[in-house]
Amino acid sequence: PFDFQGKHVTVAGLGVSGVPAAKVLHGLGATVTVVNDGADERARAQAAELEALGITVRLGDGDTLPEGTELIVTAPGWKPDKPLFAAAEQAGVPVWGDVELAWRLRGPDAAPWLAVTGTNGKTTTVQMLASILKAAGLRTAAVGNIGVSLLDAVLGEERYDVLAVELSSYQLHWAPSLRAHSAAVLNLAPDHLDWHGSMEAYAADKGRIYEGNRVACVYNVDATDKPSTEDLVREADVEEGCRAVGFTLGTPAPSQLGVVEGILVDRAFVENRQKNAQELAEVADVDPPAPHNIANALAAAALARAYGVPARAVRDGLRAFTPDAHRIAHVADVDGVAYVDDSKATNTHAAEASLAAYESIVWIAGGLAKGAAFDELVAKSAKRLRGAVLIGADRALIREALARHAPEVPVVDLDRTDTGAMRAAVREARRLARPGDTVLLAPACASMDMFVNYNKRGDAFADAVRELGSAEG
Ligand code: ADP
Repeated sequence: PFDFQGKHVTVAGLGVSGVPAAKVLHGLGATVTVVNDGADERARAQAAELEALGITVRLGDGDTLPEGTELIVTAPGWKPDKPLFAAAEQAGVPVWGDVELAWRLRGPDAAPWLAVTGTNGKTTTVQMLASILKAAGLRTAAVGNIGVSLLDAVLGEERYDVLAVELSSYQLHWAPSLRAHSAAVLNLAPDHLDWHGSMEAYAADKGRIYEGNRVACVYNVDATDKPSTEDLVREADVEEGCRAVGFTLGTPAPSQLGVVEGILVDRAFVENRQKNAQELAEVADVDPPAPHNIANALAAAALARAYGVPARAVRDGLRAFTPDAHRIAHVADVDGVAYVDDSKATNTHAAEASLAAYESIVWIAGGLAKGAAFDELVAKSAKRLRGAVLIGADRALIREALARHAPEVPVVDLDRTDTGAMRAAVREARRLARPGDTVLLAPACASMDMFVNYNKRGDAFADAVRELGSAEG
């Protein structure tokens, strides 16, 4: 174990990961300095709390490396090209993220990790996985990027048999020594490229999740993006005996999980030696039974099976699972039109999955594009669009893609970024919709130009829809 006694550790960034990390390190005897870019009210309050413990905090200067720093523990969102990290590299100072810290402190001893990453579906898959593990009678929790700190999970009182761990590409970037029991990359589409710098760098960070896997590397057979998740498995350095296990919406080959006539089947971890496939669950056990979500269920099942969970627990766990809010949530029907909130579709790949689940759509989209291009999404979805209503800072990018690939689709460009814009958007969408249509909020963008987060954006949509309903009387 790493000895922090007397070590000079700089924590980069206050907030959800920085504050607990600073406290833990301080408790282990390190001399802790926290550096933070901002100095707003929340930062000042957090600083005061840490200073009361004897921790030094420098507000408004996140780029000067404190004298004598031996290790940096960074918030996952800090960009690798920040001057602080250039200074660290120059001085030979290692940089860890919160996940690396948790792993080094107690990772391998606390419980094996079944880890999940991917551009979309991480939270859903990790929750399905935890539900399956629980159905098998195991002590477990869904932790990590899902909002439950790994530090808390590995250092807390609670004992676990196994952890279902959601990891973001940022966290993986800063977690060089992490070694999971088994891991899955669900899919890989351009996202956060402004942070990682390129698709290659993003894929490499995601691929880190397979490094050192002991039992199974789970990959997506159907993915068409390059590099594929299978490519990432091939490039990873894993423990001897670790297997590549694919999941597909089609008929599975040996060493794969897939779907045969509405049944999820496993041809990788077969319990009965007489058989060459194990039936796991029915498609109808998956909520919602949209194609992308069945893929999530198969990935969760593959990880659970790699851990040794029986087929029956997969079925029970999937049946017990209900999706979180703002993920393809049906809000209401008004005048024969369904209103669906997929505010969590914060990138083009997610929006493509939800647009693929409906036939005739009035699409509400826009927000912060994060460097994405919309041509492919719009071209693939054009034939399903009755109309589109655009809001948010980067809506022009979507408007232009619609003009290029779907010139016949009516578009309302609201030219607004205030919070009230959602209400106007829902009213415009209603005007465009015909009975049998779906009004779908699948913004393909982040929400922070207009809302605190995607939850608030989804709430604003749902409120506006309910207003329509009640105006109806
Ligand atoms: P994450 O944690 O990766 O952001 P979530 O499980 O919260 O993923 O789902 C986010 C959104 O991504 C969903 O609302 C849905 O639109 C879309 N989505 C979920 N699973 C998939 C998938 N396997 N492929 C593509 N899109 C998906």
